Amino acid sequence: MTFNLLSTNQTINLGKNSTQSLAIKREDRIHPQISGNKYRKLKYNIAQAKAEGKLTLLTFGGAYSNHISAVAAVGKESGFHTIGVIRGEELVDKVATNPTLQFAEHCGMQFKFVSREIFKFKTAESFIQKLKREFGEFYLIPEGGTNELAIKGCEEILAEADSAYDYICCSVGTGGTISGIINASKPHQTVLGFPALKGDFLREEISKFAPNLNWDLITEYHFGGYAKINTELISFMNQFKADFDIPLDPVYTGKLMFGVMDLLHQGYFPEHSKILVIHTGGLQGVSGMNAVLRKKQLPLIR
Ligand SMILES: *Cc1c(COP(=O)(O)O)cnc(C)c1O
Repeated sequence: MTFNLLSTNQTINLGKNSTQSLAIKREDRIHPQISGNKYRKLKYNIAQAKAEGKLTLLTFGGAYSNHISAVAAVGKESGFHTIGVIRGEELVDKVATNPTLQFAEHCGMQFKFVSREIFKFKTAESFIQKLKREFGEFYLIPEGGTNELAIKGCEEILAEADSAYDYICCSVGTGGTISGIINASKPHQTVLGFPALKGDFLREEISKFAPNLNWDLITEYHFGGYAKINTELISFMNQFKADFDIPLDPVYTGKLMFGVMDLLHQGYFPEHSKILVIHTGGLQGVSGMNAVLRKKQLPLIR
C-alpha cells in the first residue's frame, strides 16, 4: 500500500477561559477509503499475506463495517482477491441499498452472507476449514482486524513529537487500536479509551496486548451500545463539524469526541493539560447511518 500519510495534529480552540489544550490527530485523512486505524491494522497483515504467497484475503463483518470496507479497498489496491463473510442472511438482496456493501462489491469483494447464529462461529477452526473447502486457500483477517500484526501497525499512530501530550484519547471497539497506542505511549502519558459498546471484556483484551498500566477506560459514552445513537449525539456531531470543520462518524469518533468535550466541561482534566484525541476515521459509515435515520425520520448527520 503506497500513499501519502496526511495525518496531522489539528488544534481545536477551546476558548480563552480554558487552560487546557486540545488537538486532533487526523487519521481519518490517511486515505479516502482505507481510513484511520483500519489502514494501520491492515498494513503488516498485507505484508504477511504477501510473504506467505496468499492471493486471497478473507474476513468477517457487519453490514456497515469500516473493516469490511477497508479490506475490500486494500485488496483492490494491493492485488488480492477479497472475501467478506457478512453477518445477516437477509442482506443478500440489500447490497444495492447498502453503501458499505456496495462500495466493497465495487472493489471486487465477494460476499458470503451467513445467519447471526452461524456468524458466531467465526473463530471456530471447523468453520474456517469449511470456508477453505469452499473458497480455497486464504489469509484470514479476524473481524475488526485485531491481531498481533494489527497492533504493531497501531503502534505507528503516535509520532515522537506526540510525547508532548499528557492525555491521549481514542475510541475502543475490539481494543486493538488502543493497545498499539498504549505500547507506543510514554510512561508520563495517560491513554484514555472510550468504548463504543457495552461490555467488561475489553479491559482483559487490552491487558493481553498492552502490558503497560498507564491507561484507563471511560465507559459512560457508549450511548446504549454498538452503533446505537440518539439525537443528542447527532446534534453534537453536526455542531462540532460546523465549529471546527472536522467530520465525525456516528459509531466511534462521535461518541469519543462527545465524551472528551463532556469531561473537559466537568473539569476532569487538570489545569494546563495537553490532550490529543485520535480521529480513527470511520467516515464511510455516515451515509449508511443516514439511510437508517431517514427511515426513522430522525435528524441526519451533515
Ligand atoms: C474499528 C474502529 C475503531 C475501533 O478500533 P479497535 O481496534 O477495534 O478498538 C475505532 N474507530 C473507528 C473509526 C473504527 O473504524
